[in-house]
Amino acid sequence: MSYELDPLPYEYDALEPHISEQVLTWHHDTHHQGYVNGWNAAEETLAENREAGEFGSSAGALRNVTHNGSGHILHDLFWQNMSPEGGDEPEGALAERIAEDFGSYEAWKGEFEAAAGAAGGWALLVYDSFSNQLRNVVVDKHDQGALWGSHPILALDVWEHSYYHDYGPARGDFVSAFFEVVDWDEPAARYDQAVELFE
Ligand code: MN
Repeated sequence: MSYELDPLPYEYDALEPHISEQVLTWHHDTHHQGYVNGWNAAEETLAENREAGEFGSSAGALRNVTHNGSGHILHDLFWQNMSPEGGDEPEGALAERIAEDFGSYEAWKGEFEAAAGAAGGWALLVYDSFSNQLRNVVVDKHDQGALWGSHPILALDVWEHSYYHDYGPARGDFVSAFFEVVDWDEPAARYDQAVELFE
């Protein structure tokens, strides 16, 4: 099988003024496409090496699978958990669980913003199936800092390609802008899926 890049679920200018058409175009068409291509290339290398019984380049390809594969998976989530109709707070079962596990929505958000300020890659809200609770996670690159057994619920890309053209070094302004377009419909569905799978 090979992986393919889905189109954005909205127009490239749909998240303006919070995220510019230029940034979404570069980010989706160049950066995200690069992770899809990198994943496919790494899988090809692994398959060729298995066929040939020669594994000299396999360890590097395995690293490329986790790096590019995590990049592809997280960018899909990132596009899906924003929309021009976003900007609200979570509702329903996910909202109740956030209040239960973090104390309040405000406490969750403050912690998530701290994660986004510190990350060298992504801030994630995940469902940790080992402890059966929601957690925020600081991720470097796409895969460093992951907690095994966690199911991602909400993803915020804080790589510089995600915001620098729009906000320069003011990452906090970009994080605030993200909350103007965050759309909780998909994260709520992912939470329901996690509970069904793991609880
Ligand atoms: Mn990115």
